[in-house]
Amino acid sequence: MEIIHNIQNLKKWRQQIPSDSTIGFTPTMGCLHEGHLSLLQKSRDENSVSILSIFVNPTQFNDPNDYQNYPKTEQHDIQLAEDARVDAIFMPSTNELYPQYYNYKITTTDPLAQCMEGTYRPGHFDGVLTVVMKLLMLVKPHRAYFGEKDYQQLKLIQNLVRSFFIDTEIVPCQIVREPSGLACSSRNNRLNSENRKKAEKFAEILTTHTCIEQIKAALTTENIHIDYIEKQLGRIFSAIKIDDIRLIDNREFTE
Ligand code: AMP
Repeated sequence: MEIIHNIQNLKKWRQQIPSDSTIGFTPTMGCLHEGHLSLLQKSRDENSVSILSIFVNPTQFNDPNDYQNYPKTEQHDIQLAEDARVDAIFMPSTNELYPQYYNYKITTTDPLAQCMEGTYRPGHFDGVLTVVMKLLMLVKPHRAYFGEKDYQQLKLIQNLVRSFFIDTEIVPCQIVREPSGLACSSRNNRLNSENRKKAEKFAEILTTHTCIEQIKAALTTENIHIDYIEKQLGRIFSAIKIDDIRLIDNREFTE
């Protein structure tokens, strides 16, 4: 497995891939867990070459504390990637990926970016779309793998690719959950045992109720701070906070 830190070497790596190969790409912010591994597995199964990126993208964090506290487990990630038979990991520095700082960016007025995460995290989706655009331009994958855990993000990335005629198929991947039902997330690493119980309760409430008001009432009873609970696109979307740890989840529902 090759570990690539700079763009020059990434370009060299990309050039030596035979033209009859297909490249599967999984962009992440590291601190890999079962959710990420399911994306890597799908990429491995569907392509001849599989590449992972690990980059904690500063421009998508509206809260500097959240950025500073974002968990980093580099050596562990490298081992997991090796086990998942990844061919290359791209781990650039911020300067490498932002040579013109943030002076050039993707900005969206898509109504889907103006609600839910877009409301609670101003600028978040511009940061996500900008970094995804940069990564797709560099890696030029045939397929890129994104989780439904970030469903709003997934839809916006599909719209981005459609808008700029990018020759990459965006492959949606189902949410992977812990046995308790809690969606796997790098931020779960920051939960102490008391907060983990609350987070598991959040997942349980989300699966056992379909009425927004009932979900809100049950979360309030558990003293869980709600950012939003919304029905959109045939799914129930939720964002909550436990101390300073913000968790999101969503699931399909039928009336
Ligand atoms: P992140 O490292 O949080 O930016 O996530 C990288 C990718 O993994 C994104 O496409 C996420 O949607 C996806 N992902 C994160 N958690 C899960 C999960 N529990 N199940 C499936 N995909 C996930």
